[in-house]
This record gives sequence, structure tokens and C-alpha cells, in this order.
Amino acid sequence: MAKRPRISFHDFTSCEGCQLQVLNCEDELLDVLAAVDIVQFREAIDDRNDDYDIAFIEGAFSRESDRARLEAIRRNAKIVVALGACATTGGLNVLKNYRGVEKAMKTVYGEHARWYETCPVQPIDAVIKVDYKIHGCPIPQGEFLEVVKSLLAGRKPQIPDYPVCVECKLRENVCLYHKGQYCMGVVARAGCTAWCPSYGGRCYACRGLVSDPNNKGAKDVLEEFGLTLEKVLDEFRLFNGVYDVAKE
Ligand code: SF4
Ligand code: SF4
Ligand code: SF4
Repeated sequence: MAKRPRISFHDFTSCEGCQLQVLNCEDELLDVLAAVDIVQFREAIDDRNDDYDIAFIEGAFSRESDRARLEAIRRNAKIVVALGACATTGGLNVLKNYRGVEKAMKTVYGEHARWYETCPVQPIDAVIKVDYKIHGCPIPQGEFLEVVKSLLAGRKPQIPDYPVCVECKLRENVCLYHKGQYCMGVVARAGCTAWCPSYGGRCYACRGLVSDPNNKGAKDVLEEFGLTLEKVLDEFRLFNGVYDVAKE
């Protein structure tokens, strides 16, 4: 890799909120900028240069015509990083798959639906090889900075692979199950410092699942609190539906 690695950002189907998280890193972003050249970042600069080492891809794959652009990014970059839930799991966009793509298009665009191109939503690694994933909707800024610093130092980024419950306990939150609610933190990937339960909300596993979730433990918790797996699956599908959705 060159002395000053060249970094690019690319957006596909998304709200672009993860790129905003990058811009909002403020002081620490200045340190990163001192060590790299950003050659493509539509949210921040006008330049568009296809000579880059590390490509960050935000957004899901939802149009066949995007396949060629993704393949070109893969050819150009030494390292490809999926940025945020839309890119890592398809994110909220996958809800369209459940409704049926054609039905969803008619609902949104009515008689003009045929003007627009779409296909069942997939995460980026269903189309091209992805080297690393930064999870979340939106991504935690600390995780973005950890990944960038690790890649610049030539080491593998440390992405948490334990449940949100661990971080939730460290913050000394009262578990939502004890307040009569349910929560996906039991199987969701940590790294957000348990944002949602810390502010009274449920965890929807926007950071995906840990790679080896304790399904039995999760089931025991559900049974103890009188919840059905089906009810919790509804929550699961909000961000992780791509794993069990019936595609068209
Ligand atoms: S993961 Fe969430 S915040 Fe990031 S681009 Fe997708 S919808 Fe927006
Ligand atoms: S509130 Fe959610 S994340 Fe926190 S301990 Fe309970 S199940 Fe785990
Ligand atoms: S608590 Fe759950 S839903 Fe909230 S940010 Fe963390 S992983 Fe995402």
C-alpha cells in the first residue's frame, strides 16, 4: 500500500447517515485526514478518482445495474469495507423483500412503478467479496475510527463478537425484560455501548448477530418471560431479515 493510502466512499441504497457519522467524527477525523488521501467522498468533496486502496461502501444492493459499479470498486480497491447495516445485512431495505418487490413498487410509485429499476435487496457481500464490516444503523464513530487506524497500521480491526447484553450490564442498566419488554440484545452484536437499552429503547440488532449466538440461552430467556419466538422474529427481521427472507 502507498505511504498515504487512498480512501474512497461509495453509496448505494441507503440514507447516507453512515457517511454523515464519518463526517461528524470531527477532531479525530482530522487525524485520519492527515494520514490518508480521500479521493472520492460525494458527501464531502467534488473529486472523483478511481485510484484508491481502501473503499468504504455504504448502502445495500437493490438494482441489477449497480452490479457493474460494485465489481469495478472491487477491482480498484485492495480492501473493501462494508459501512453500516444497509451494506452489511441489507438493513431496513430488506423489508421490501417481505412485501414482494413488485407490490412494494406499486405501493410507493403507483402507476409509475415501471419507470424505476429494483430487485430484491441484498447485502454487499452477496455481490462482491467484502474484507471487513462496520456494523450498525448508523455506525458507531469509534468503530469506524478503529477500523481505519487498524488498516493504516496493517493489523486486523477488532470488531466485537459478543452480545449487546455485555455492554448493557457494564452500563448497569436494568434489563428491559425486567420491565416487561423484550430486547434482541441477547443475540445482537455489541459495539454500540448498548445505545438503545441505555436510553430506554429495545435493541433491534441493527449491528447484526454475534457469529455464535447462544440460541438456547435466548430461548430460555424468552420462555422465562412468556414470549414466543415468532414475536421476537418480527423484531429480528427489521435488520436481519436477509437471513431468512423468501426472495422473489
Ligand atoms: S445503516 Fe442506517 S444510517 Fe447507515 S445508511 Fe443505512 S439506513 Fe442510513
Ligand atoms: S436490556 Fe437488552 S441488552 Fe440490556 S441486558 Fe436486557 S436483553 Fe440485554
Ligand atoms: S442497542 Fe441494538 S439496535 Fe441499538 S444501536 Fe446497539 S445493536 Fe443497534
